Amino acid sequence: MRTSSLLLLLSLAPALAGAQGNPNPVPADPSRWPQHSMERPRPANVTPGPFATVPAPSDAIVLMDGKSLAKWRATDSAMGPARWTIANGYVEVAPGTGAIATRDSFGDVQLHIEWKSPVPAVGESQHRGNSGVFFMGTYEVQILDTYHNDTYADGMAGGFYGQFPPLVNPIRPPTEWNSYDIVFHRPHFDASGKVTAPARMTVFFNGVLVQDDQALIGPTSHGERAPYEAHADALPIELQDHEFKVRFRNIWVRRLE
Ligand code: MG
Repeated sequence: MRTSSLLLLLSLAPALAGAQGNPNPVPADPSRWPQHSMERPRPANVTPGPFATVPAPSDAIVLMDGKSLAKWRATDSAMGPARWTIANGYVEVAPGTGAIATRDSFGDVQLHIEWKSPVPAVGESQHRGNSGVFFMGTYEVQILDTYHNDTYADGMAGGFYGQFPPLVNPIRPPTEWNSYDIVFHRPHFDASGKVTAPARMTVFFNGVLVQDDQALIGPTSHGERAPYEAHADALPIELQDHEFKVRFRNIWVRRLE
């Protein structure tokens, strides 16, 4: 009896702590669809125009030029170097080495990033070329090989993972490069930690609008919705190691604050 009471208290402790420590509620579903629903309609496929790179403008910070990872670190140590592979003008995920994060911190930004799925395409659904861009280490724009690869709508490339599918699916085949151009506005919090303005993002995927100034309902998450939690005004941008050899190049960012 005493043991079961203790277990009950222990199981309640995180919920109680959350209720006292975080004034933000767990968000309700933003649509009538449960998270990761396979019933939710997939956005239409759109064939983008031919790939065209977007060189960094004069006021941009170049985060990755394909020759160096000096602007990045491993996320499993504060100072450790990123251990992904540099080759032929791109950087490739070294599976198992973990996510990498920018050494600098950022709030509101414009970000350009080019990425390419592994060839040959292997695996299905979320297990094909999965990676992601995490603003503030928290808010993910999904990277996934969704070229002739069905998965749940809110897990598709260009989606805010587990929240908002892309408006359309303009991905290129895995033999070609893709680009995202993203405008990210950080969330704002009051002194109590209550969110006063949600994070917002606009995303162009291969030049096609896939997120239109969309407000996020909280941190992106898998399997259950998570509430906003107050954090710093500037934090690193992270790229996800999801065990797939996704390639990256030409990443630059402009500060908007
Ligand atoms: Mg991902």
